[in-house]
Amino acid sequence: MFLAAESVQRDSVVHADVVIAGAGAAGITIARALRGSGLHTVVLEGGGFDYDAASQALYTGTVSGSPYELEDSRLRYFGGTTNHWGGWVRPLDDADFDGRAWVPGTGWPISRSDLDPYYGSAFRMTSQLDDHPFGWESWLEGDRDVEALVDSPLLTGAMYRISPVRFGQAYRDELRDAPDVEVYLGANVVNIGTDRTGSHATGLDVRTLKGAGFHVAADRFVCALGGIDNARLLLASRAVEPGGLGNSNDLVGRYFMDHIEAAVATLVLADPVPNVYLGGRFDLARAGVVPTEAAAEQHRLAGTAFIIGEPRVASRRGALDGTVPDAVVKGVLGSLERGDPHTYSLEIRAEPEPNPQSRITLNDGTDALGMPTVDVHRVLTDGDHQRLKRAMELFASELGRLGLGWMRIDADGLGDHDGPLYYGFHHMGTTRMSDDPSTGVVDRRCRVHGIDNLWIAGSSVFPSVGFANPTLTIVALALRIADDLR
Ligand SMILES: Cc1cc2nc3c(=O)[nH]c(=O)nc-3n(C[C@H](O)[C@H](O)[C@H](O)COP(=O)(O)OP(=O)(O)OC[C@H]3O[C@@H](n4cnc5c(N)ncnc54)[C@H](O)[C@@H]3O)c2cc1C
Repeated sequence: MFLAAESVQRDSVVHADVVIAGAGAAGITIARALRGSGLHTVVLEGGGFDYDAASQALYTGTVSGSPYELEDSRLRYFGGTTNHWGGWVRPLDDADFDGRAWVPGTGWPISRSDLDPYYGSAFRMTSQLDDHPFGWESWLEGDRDVEALVDSPLLTGAMYRISPVRFGQAYRDELRDAPDVEVYLGANVVNIGTDRTGSHATGLDVRTLKGAGFHVAADRFVCALGGIDNARLLLASRAVEPGGLGNSNDLVGRYFMDHIEAAVATLVLADPVPNVYLGGRFDLARAGVVPTEAAAEQHRLAGTAFIIGEPRVASRRGALDGTVPDAVVKGVLGSLERGDPHTYSLEIRAEPEPNPQSRITLNDGTDALGMPTVDVHRVLTDGDHQRLKRAMELFASELGRLGLGWMRIDADGLGDHDGPLYYGFHHMGTTRMSDDPSTGVVDRRCRVHGIDNLWIAGSSVFPSVGFANPTLTIVALALRIADDLR
């Protein structure tokens, strides 16, 4: 059932078994999974059914690190940022959970096998496609007509599925018809109340843009406000803990990560790229080129994928300009003599190192509801830049060695590492998961350390991020939280 927050009697108390703050990918997943559970579930969504400038303005903040697109990188209405996401999904790999010893701070307290029971359902929710293997080998088998660009012990393929489901549209009727779920629209959560010890959440304070407000009391609470506002709400809830809830170790908001995503090079190949790398008739699937785990270890790389972009028009002379080593040019020239080179843009998608200096803090401002606004300070480390460079060198040298082609690093690629293209709109890490409260905000079940009934849903819990887009894993974790709430 949907209700307008404005219609709730001012200063009244709404009671529930479970309250979910935020109705984006994570919040809708949990609400949907709790239907029929016997739990009276209340969802508090700040926006309405459509984009509204006044609601969106509540997301305004400042940027003090590398340039960052803060407002447009999320949407503040029912369905959340899935109202304009790209729909690329892929699970994290074993190595992402296990961590890469040569990339500081990577690894999760859980392993891929903990999420395997949820990834299938998560895939159906995010894509509304039948379950399909992501394993590269299985795509090469059978009669799918999938051909590998590179066949090498150092580079392999990785498959993404791309079928963007708009959660607010796809699951709206189900939530409307669920007798045990109430979704309040225009219900902005501005504070989490706790008992005097700060170890048990007691209720959420809700405000509307027209000045009304009420309180929601419940047994269990879930924050699903997105990777920035999960941290913002914890930091702003400081009645008992001056530094904010869950923040006794000064970790809330730290380790803010976004994927490094940038068009970094021009790729010149002897033969056209196989269709599966460009989408084409595989428009619901698309392959990237990734270092094998052996190559990642040998070259000390983070999670990295190369995505081949649109074909570029370039003359052979143009393609040869630049600082391509003579040996590589000679090796490749022979094969290029067969015909005009095929030229493509090349995008890198890589995992940054978890960095405590990269962080979300509250700034001095407040929004229209009086809630503190955020500052985003995203910084990459020298190690991040070195790993990007090594990944590109590996890709380029394998192409040359195999006589497939070469790549030229674009002037505004690696060099301009603070450039605005260096992110994918994925907000991660600000309430990171760890078994140890001194190194993480939530435990392995996504429950805030030291607070027995408060869960965090979303990519803010990712302690490290691999190269895959986050939403499939957000939804898998949300389904796991729903199991625990049941
Ligand atoms: C342009 C773009 C393209 C993207 N493409 C991809 C992609 O291809 N693949 C991928 O995996 N990911 C992609 N993403 C990221 C993806 O959209 C997010 O990972 C996902 O939406 C996060 O889900 P969430 O539920 O955590 O947050 P959101 O979807 O942002 O939902 C948060 C919800 O909380 C509500 N809210 C916020 N604050 C409050 C408050 N105080 N009180 C009440 N409600 C509140 C918001 O209105 C919103 O509905 C993309 C993002 C962008 C911007």
